[in-house]
Amino acid sequence: MFVKPIEVPFHVRQYDYLNKRLIASSPRKKAVEAQLARYTTGFHGEAALNYPLQFVPPDDLLFHNLRFPDRANFFQLDFLVLTRSFLMILEVKNLKGKVMLNGRQMIRSLNNEVEAYPDPVIQALRHQCQLNDWLSRRNFSGLPVKSLVVFGTRSVLNFEDKTRAAQCVMPDTVPFRIAELSDRFQKTMLSESECGQLKHFLLADHQPLELDLLHHAKVSRTELIRGVRCPACGRFSVVRSFRTWLCMNCAHRPKYAGEDALIEYRHLFGSAITNRSCREFLRLDSDSVARKLLTTNQLPYEGSTRDRVYYINDQVLKQLEK
Ligand SMILES: [Zn+2]
Repeated sequence: MFVKPIEVPFHVRQYDYLNKRLIASSPRKKAVEAQLARYTTGFHGEAALNYPLQFVPPDDLLFHNLRFPDRANFFQLDFLVLTRSFLMILEVKNLKGKVMLNGRQMIRSLNNEVEAYPDPVIQALRHQCQLNDWLSRRNFSGLPVKSLVVFGTRSVLNFEDKTRAAQCVMPDTVPFRIAELSDRFQKTMLSESECGQLKHFLLADHQPLELDLLHHAKVSRTELIRGVRCPACGRFSVVRSFRTWLCMNCAHRPKYAGEDALIEYRHLFGSAITNRSCREFLRLDSDSVARKLLTTNQLPYEGSTRDRVYYINDQVLKQLEK
């Protein structure tokens, strides 16, 4: 059963919004498109596990995309399977073409191009250590932690180092590998309440990756198209007209265009927003339309009326996305 279901990660949505707003003449356009394509391919590889994971016993708890603070940094798990006897990490690699593992590197050949990547088995073992460490800091040491590398169906695998073969699987075989582990680790390590507690810790400690987007993409604010986007035709041609939003291109009246723009704002620039930056981004003339949008959506704020800073925090974001 999914406790944390598969969904597009925050940083992937950030790049998606950026790509939609970035002017075609930006020198960074190609680089942004390429980064978005890499992220999207990675996510599609993860989404492909949705079907096979339906065949995992309902008592096994499934988490997609967890990211925890490590001592100095963060570590990220594509999937985690929590049972009362063991934990299993799934590391997903979605690479098209011939993929060879030689025990040191992963080498991908496609269309006469050869690319080298770090060995994903080593990466998965490192995540095992990091998760073990995380568990012991929360007094859950002694739980067996295992890992698998899951490849997409477009990978043709080849193992120069045969020891790698046992650790690398295709999506369809994942439920069988979990069943094998259940046979191997029959001893119940966690009571039902301990399992619930661990589930709570995993969710509470998760910190999604949120990029300092413009800095990460090396894009300046002036390269972004301003205005309110029409969900029907995709143009930034929505204006405020007689207390409703109206698309000047296709005459659609999107009811929540203002809220959608705030969601975009948070992904592009972070949570802090002022009346002025709101008007600039949405291309609004009216001070009161901006103020109404910010106050009716109950954004928390700091400061007096003139220099008030509002915050599109996580709670507000969830509310806006409903
Ligand atoms: Zn339109």
